Amino acid sequence: MGNSDLKIEKEIEQTDINSLRTDMISINAHQIRTSLSSIKWIIEMFLNEDVGKLSTEQENLMRKAKESNDRALEIVSELLMANKTTDITEKKYCFSEVNISEVIESSIFDFTGEAHARGIEIIFLKQASALPNVRADKEKLRVVIENLLENAIKYSNMHGKIFIATKEESGFVEISVKDTGIGISEEGKGKIFDKFYRDENAQKKEPVGSGIGLFTARKIIENHGGKVWFESKKDEGTTLFLTLPVST
Ligand code: ADP
Repeated sequence: MGNSDLKIEKEIEQTDINSLRTDMISINAHQIRTSLSSIKWIIEMFLNEDVGKLSTEQENLMRKAKESNDRALEIVSELLMANKTTDITEKKYCFSEVNISEVIESSIFDFTGEAHARGIEIIFLKQASALPNVRADKEKLRVVIENLLENAIKYSNMHGKIFIATKEESGFVEISVKDTGIGISEEGKGKIFDKFYRDENAQKKEPVGSGIGLFTARKIIENHGGKVWFESKKDEGTTLFLTLPVST
């Protein structure tokens, strides 16, 4: 083996290690965020006195717990955001048979705290008959579902409702995430899948955002042989749809 071959092999090895490291950070950060979100939710139940009256001392302690939990949530969200900017769509895909309902349910659980804080209800309209498994890279699929859910929450008004539905059609499973939020402007309709594009109304509602969530989601779904599209009406709401091939 020549020197240049060795060098290339080393570079590939290094790329693999880096990509593994990014995946590990992402998966662990997601799990930490899940735990912190449910702690946040529980603390809020105490502070709202949903589970009984608190003494002043108990309330003060709960407020302290809330402050440090919120700080930890912020840090972990920043970590997830920084990790997101590395292009995961280009990384190796590990396809397996995936139960899509499980991925949806655990993603919803991840956002329970965030949705609760904004008074938003997430409803999973689970179909009566079992859905077939899809052929997917589970972690990348999770990133897609979480992007769609995160957007539905971010671009909803207080006390909005989010409906997630699934159905099987012609060898594909279709997933839809519908919100009752701010909608997409006519101008934005042709651009929301472009890298870094953010609609003006979205920027007003949520000043912080990267504009890469939907770009990433579309690339991942297309790399699975599926499609992504949407329907939206300004000030009424948006539904994002995606399809994935059934595992054969
Ligand atoms: P980000 O949310 O970080 O801005 P995304 O790539 O996820 O980036 O979305 C791109 C743009 O598409 C958003 O800035 C917003 O204008 C629009 N958009 C996406 N999802 C929704 C939604 N559910 N409701 C309204 N607008 C949306």
